[in-house]
Amino acid sequence: MPNTPPAAGPQDPPALAQLQLKFVAGELEREFLHSYRTMARPWVRMSLLVALSTVLGFAVIDHWLLVGPRLVRPDVWRFGLQLPLVLITLVLTDARLYLRWYQPAVQVAAPLFGVGTVLMAIEATPPQVPLVAARLVLAAFYFYFMLGFTFRAAVRTNLLLMAAYTVAALIGAVAPTVAVYSLFVLLCANLIGGAGCYALEYANRVAFIEHRRLAQVASHDGLTGVLNRAALEEQAVTLWQRAAAGRLPVSLLLIDIDHFKAYNDRYGHQAGDRCLRQIAAAIQAAARRPLDLVARYGGEEFIVVCAGADRSEAVSAAAALQHAVAALAIAHEASTTQPHVTVSIGVTTLEPGDVYSHEHAVRQADLALYRAKERGRDGWAFHGEPDAGTASGGERRGAADPARIPGRQSLA
Ligand code: GH3
Ligand code: MG
Ligand code: MG
Repeated sequence: MPNTPPAAGPQDPPALAQLQLKFVAGELEREFLHSYRTMARPWVRMSLLVALSTVLGFAVIDHWLLVGPRLVRPDVWRFGLQLPLVLITLVLTDARLYLRWYQPAVQVAAPLFGVGTVLMAIEATPPQVPLVAARLVLAAFYFYFMLGFTFRAAVRTNLLLMAAYTVAALIGAVAPTVAVYSLFVLLCANLIGGAGCYALEYANRVAFIEHRRLAQVASHDGLTGVLNRAALEEQAVTLWQRAAAGRLPVSLLLIDIDHFKAYNDRYGHQAGDRCLRQIAAAIQAAARRPLDLVARYGGEEFIVVCAGADRSEAVSAAAALQHAVAALAIAHEASTTQPHVTVSIGVTTLEPGDVYSHEHAVRQADLALYRAKERGRDGWAFHGEPDAGTASGGERRGAADPARIPGRQSLA
């Protein structure tokens, strides 16, 4: 959506349920996870290559140092379970598969990998125990920091790893003293890794909210909350491209408040600001289609760009906007046009086949706006249409009267 609502800030407690590390708004949580996972992809790919090297490195070092009959079984877990798991997850980090498949796959693959590590620890001979148990700790840290897991997923995976080792200990596969010692080491590793993982995710969430807030401030007008001119011009590029690709008409409305200087002079600048906010809200409320853009174009001028709206829709929209502003009934005793605040609107539509240019459309709407002003304000004019005998020329006076607007409708 082009006009995103204001983002909640990090100091806004309801935005982030801190202890659960979750944004209260489901939409915000989904957006965070999407951006977190997307950003993590290069890191995750590199981490899986590290995992690959680690598995192969331990194979070399085991064969070099851990000579003995019990070496065959670890090779089964290593080459039959862990290596395929790493390779499969690595394949799933491909850009086309990653967002859909990586997360569900790694949530299964990581605990299985952990079980492989536990099986190797079980098979270790007494002199090998300290060496092999260290791998459990490595696996724990790996799950916390390397796989792009959220804190919750990392904790879940590590609990499964500890559960697997505990089961092994309970069924007597590990000597009790070794089991107690290893489980305690694993517990400590989880406390340290978990705390780090929590802090990291918390910082990521705060940065995400900050980034949204900055983007909001940079792209929206501080007074009225609609897009600012620079953001509109940036977003309009995509809008015009989409319209050209879909062979859609594009309509553009330039809206200027009538006698606004006189309004400020009569009621004061703060009242003028309130008036601007009310009118911006009325325009925004009318422009609800996904492809509508609303922006503050200058001091008391607004612009609406509607992809897919043809001439008649644009004209109805202009009339609807005029009615919406009149319905606000903001008293304007200094106006020579009406006793309330009114707007003049310049309208233009570019059809497929015309030269699609935002600047060109703005120029046309500006010319039309000039004509609407010339004709006495509180009206709209359509670019290039003669004043007399056209819908615009004939309807100007009654444009704010809903009963006289044929086919009046909102932009939605
Ligand atoms: P017209 O009917 O021809 O459009 O006359 P106008 O008085 O509306 O136009 P003009 O361009 O002479 O004056 C625009 C006024 O808008 C002048 C300026 O003080 C006021 N204005 C611009 N930005 C703001 C703002 O942010 N807040 C307030 N209160 N006034 C603003
Ligand atoms: Mg103006
Ligand atoms: Mg004005």
